[in-house]
Amino acid sequence: VFVVGGGFAAAEESVFLTKYATHVTILMRKSEFSCAKAVAQPVYENEKITVLPNTEVVKVEGRDFLEKLTYKNNQNGKETTFKDTHGFGVFVFAGYEPATSFVKELNITDERGYIVTDRTQKTSIDGIYAAGDVCIKPLRQVVTAVGDAGLAATELEKYVAAMEKKTGIKPTFSQPEKPSPAKEEQAKKQDSSLFTSDMLSQLHTVFSKMEAPLVLKVYTKNDALSNELLSYLLELSRLTDKITLEEIKDEQRAPLVEIYKNGEYSGLAFHGVPGGHEFTSFILGLYNVSGPGQSVSEDVLTRIENIKTQTSLQILVSLSCTMCPDLVVAAQRIASLSPYVCTEIYDINHFPDLKDKYHVMSVPCMVVNEDKVSFGKKNMKEILDFIHK
Ligand SMILES: Cc1cc2nc3c(=O)[nH]c(=O)nc-3n(C[C@H](O)[C@H](O)[C@H](O)COP(=O)(O)OP(=O)(O)OC[C@H]3O[C@@H](n4cnc5c(N)ncnc54)[C@H](O)[C@@H]3O)c2cc1C
Repeated sequence: VFVVGGGFAAAEESVFLTKYATHVTILMRKSEFSCAKAVAQPVYENEKITVLPNTEVVKVEGRDFLEKLTYKNNQNGKETTFKDTHGFGVFVFAGYEPATSFVKELNITDERGYIVTDRTQKTSIDGIYAAGDVCIKPLRQVVTAVGDAGLAATELEKYVAAMEKKTGIKPTFSQPEKPSPAKEEQAKKQDSSLFTSDMLSQLHTVFSKMEAPLVLKVYTKNDALSNELLSYLLELSRLTDKITLEEIKDEQRAPLVEIYKNGEYSGLAFHGVPGGHEFTSFILGLYNVSGPGQSVSEDVLTRIENIKTQTSLQILVSLSCTMCPDLVVAAQRIASLSPYVCTEIYDINHFPDLKDKYHVMSVPCMVVNEDKVSFGKKNMKEILDFIHK
């Protein structure tokens, strides 16, 4: 396998990979590792690792899997192509991009997107504090992130107390929706082992905000997966009056859940059981259909309203994928706002035919109108760009 990068993660992960790979080649843009010598030393001492300094990836090629990798020495320009028709792996550990686009308009970030704070973690805006890897700092580790957070929280508490004194306004806390006594009684009687207390509190918060009631049409057949989907949704519906289930026996379409509002299909559906990392995105999907839903900028809303042709978005995910929910939530939000867009999510583990059809090597994978395929996470703007590409 190849590892691309020359920092802490590249060094550490390369050594880890030698447990499984027969050989690891590190392609490093600079002449030396940028991490501490103590971290780089085990790499040089490991006979299963080759380090190629001053080396950059030019391209990777392959169809169902990687077959060719071309890299170049950035000192003399010499290109080398590695080929293996049985496939090989490339692991990229080449820098990070802070996920701070949601505060971009506040002008509190530097040119690389890291949030600028003072020594108390306060940004240039009163009442806004930042902590952890998103901040400018020399060491991004759990211990510094936790320290930042502790400091930010205590400083914020002081700020709130000072504002309370100054304005006389006391902070208010919204209470999560309490289920009706009948539902509560029913829920007590039934097994509620599916959701942890964290999930339950998340659910009650969302359900309390939902405006319109929803109907979930659940397509089932006589198999374990359909049973799992049905019991999952039954338990969900027991927590709120705003969700009603309708079970439909359908050998072809099961396991599937479709979201309906006011008797109409919302365009949102999940094929499989929306658990794992897709739990939150499924709940957000319900919230976005029911309303008011997550806020959307004016320009994105206009672009969604301008879609006037039927557009199908199939999103192929795995429940253990941490990048998939971002794409799922964004694509579902578009569908919830447009009568022309349908967003259907597939747990790829249960749909090998789709995996083969679209040559899916990684998730998330998005297929537009059963034709255009793209990989990786995207926000709403990027999805709209891809639809119109
Ligand atoms: C490969 C690797 C190995 C590492 N090894 C170590 C190690 O051995 N020891 C160590 O101490 N540190 C290690 N680190 C670093 C450590 O993981 C980070 O420093 C630490 O997790 C930072 O914590 P954080 O809370 O700032 O960010 P994160 O842990 O990244 O948490 C940020 C959270 O915010 C969420 N989020 C992002 N955008 C939004 C949004 N708009 N709204 C709501 N939520 C959002 C993300 O999904 C994420 O859950 C490693 C990092 C990597 C990548």
